[in-house]
Amino acid sequence: MDDRKNPNIHCTVDACQHHMCSENYCTLDQVHIDTHEADPTVKECVDCASFVKRNCCE
Ligand code: SF4
Repeated sequence: MDDRKNPNIHCTVDACQHHMCSENYCTLDQVHIDTHEADPTVKECVDCASFVKRNCCE
């Protein structure tokens, strides 16, 4: 697993395979942000489309 810290992408979703674990940052060089709504109005409408479910705690 790539454990490089990307200091430009703060993230608290530690259930994601790309999460750094030791700190609340993503390890990807870039992420894809998407929405599941036709007309997003609040932050809950927006998703990280680069999320991958972590298989186990490491
Ligand atoms: S891919 Fe998205 S959800 Fe996963 S650690 Fe990076 S920013 Fe967070």
